Amino acid sequence: MQHEVLLELKDVRRSYNSGASAVEVLHGIDLTVRRGEMVAIIGPSGSGKSTLMNIIGCLDNPSSGSYRVMGQDTLNMQPDELAALRRDFFGFIFQRYHLLGHLCARENVQVPAVYAGVRKSKRDQRACELLTSLGLEERVDYRPAQLSGGQQQRVSIARALMNGGQIILADEPTGALDTKSGQDVMRTLQELNAQGHTIIIVTHDPRIAACAHRVIAIEDGSIKSDTINEQVADPFALQDEQAAQSAQATQASGKVLSEQPVINNQWSKTWSSHLDRFKEAFVMAYRAMLSNRMRTMLTMLGIIIGIMAVVSVVALARGASERIISNIAAMGTNTITVYPGARMGDVRSGRVRSLTARDLVALQGQPFADSVSASVQTSSLIRRGAEESNATVQGVSLDLFRVYGLLLKSGRIFSQSELDNKAQVCVIDDNTAKLFFPTEDPLGKTIIVGKVGLRIIGVLAPSDSFIIRGEQPTIFMPYTSVMTRLMNQNYLSSVVLRIKDGFSTPVAESSIKRILITRHGREDFFLQSSDTIMKSIEEATMTFTLMISAIAVISLVVGGIGVMNIMLVSVTERTREIGIRMAVGARQSDILSQFLIEAVMVCMLGGLMGVLLSYIVGQLIMHFWPTIVLSYSVDSIVAAVLTSSAIGIAFGFMPARSASRLNPIEALSRE
Ligand code: ADP
Repeated sequence: MQHEVLLELKDVRRSYNSGASAVEVLHGIDLTVRRGEMVAIIGPSGSGKSTLMNIIGCLDNPSSGSYRVMGQDTLNMQPDELAALRRDFFGFIFQRYHLLGHLCARENVQVPAVYAGVRKSKRDQRACELLTSLGLEERVDYRPAQLSGGQQQRVSIARALMNGGQIILADEPTGALDTKSGQDVMRTLQELNAQGHTIIIVTHDPRIAACAHRVIAIEDGSIKSDTINEQVADPFALQDEQAAQSAQATQASGKVLSEQPVINNQWSKTWSSHLDRFKEAFVMAYRAMLSNRMRTMLTMLGIIIGIMAVVSVVALARGASERIISNIAAMGTNTITVYPGARMGDVRSGRVRSLTARDLVALQGQPFADSVSASVQTSSLIRRGAEESNATVQGVSLDLFRVYGLLLKSGRIFSQSELDNKAQVCVIDDNTAKLFFPTEDPLGKTIIVGKVGLRIIGVLAPSDSFIIRGEQPTIFMPYTSVMTRLMNQNYLSSVVLRIKDGFSTPVAESSIKRILITRHGREDFFLQSSDTIMKSIEEATMTFTLMISAIAVISLVVGGIGVMNIMLVSVTERTREIGIRMAVGARQSDILSQFLIEAVMVCMLGGLMGVLLSYIVGQLIMHFWPTIVLSYSVDSIVAAVLTSSAIGIAFGFMPARSASRLNPIEALSRE
């Protein structure tokens, strides 16, 4: 009875471009392989055996002719459809085993099943069974480097069988083995054939070819003969006792080897299979990172520094602005200041004389006004005896001491009656006290301001309030006294209104505006509330943060380019690994996601480390320089980690895509 045709090649040609001309390596191969056959393709080196084998295994496409696998024409198949054939029907055994060095035997065997979407527990169980049946039960957790050549080849046989391996393609499977291991491998292949696997072996060795039922001789890219071998050789012609035992062991375990594959196509299409593959890609990426620790660390460095800089600077800016805001809040958040002019810094504001004591009275009558205070400023020469200095003179109302957060060191502030009577009294600041009264108590003494003598009734404690400018002496007088006695003017520099509890700042602001516009006939003033100050500080902080972030983005882009560079190197270095994965059935998307996940992991981990480092550095700074405050925000940390992941995706995509588009054969042939 004739068996079903599995593989059918018709007039298959393959040529390679060599310079300007194309060199044909296979010249019209016609070949049919039926289920259950054991075929040896024999020929001298360079005759085109491997080229033919690659076409049979769907690792390569013919230049012309047709190739059908189980009736399906492979000519117009997409890369992923070819990958599915490699995954589900073929099992590859290579001369150099092509195992993945960083995976143990069990994990190597499982790789095809990972891409087929088999659940972890199932594939683990089957991998162990396969390895046990091939006599490797003691070696399941060994890495390839810890195994002999013969053992490695048995691991690769187990891998070929993982998804069923209906058709096993062995390219010089004994080429790198000693005689004994070579015999073992051939015996195993014969056993597999006896259990129903179709086997195709490529060899240059007639003794190996003699183990097959059918021998196809190929020479210069053409089939020279195709003969049935009546007398199949037993690889153990010189069988010793040990070999007999091993043959028995293989026979006993035949059941496992020939078992139906565990792939369930329904299962492989479900989302959980995608999740499982993603998990595997994640684990593989993690392993790859671990096996190249130093390089991974260096790659991360750019990202770590970039993220650390952003997070720290944002924290610093936030810390500073929070501090300013809390200072303002301490001054009282419910005040509104009215200035003459159109806006802050208006050059005309000194000449705008509209704000008067009568405005003060009008505002005092409002229901929302808790208190209304005035202030006028001038500068003047102050003298005491031979000592003289320029000073800032602040004419203020009583409340302003509280509003500006000024505290007395000694004495008192002036009273309402002194204010009403334009009394010649003053409160001096610490600078003035130090300058004019280095040794004596200033209280009760007289100081000359301009031409007016003033009695000192209070001395302020040192303060960092903005109203006292550096070392410049500042003296505080009733504003009424300043207006009449010093300046002879009837307008105010500003009016500060404290809002009653329960009234909102915006409502008060619009009322003040309405009242003053009615009184002045035009809007020749502007308002500034603690709210607007805070808003402008927040805006300034925001601008600052944005500016720094822009610089940080540049540094992150540089970091990202570093990641891309290293990923490109990594792809080049691991080309063989990619080839192996493709040969056992990885889709392009599997390779893409593996490298992409690796890039994202490097960047994300770098991002997290950057955040952590920034936090540690921040704590140290705050410990040694308590005046500097860093305020970390969850937003900036989340943004940092998201940015670093985005960099991973953006800069990892190109190398990952070039990895996924590699030609499997070229990749495999790379050392
Ligand atoms: P065998 O496996 O029988 O030793 P191959 O199939 O490897 O032979 O190679 C057959 C011929 O094809 C050789 O002459 C080789 O130089 C050529 N060849 C194989 N691969 C390529 C390639 N990628 N580019 C150009 N020539 C190639």
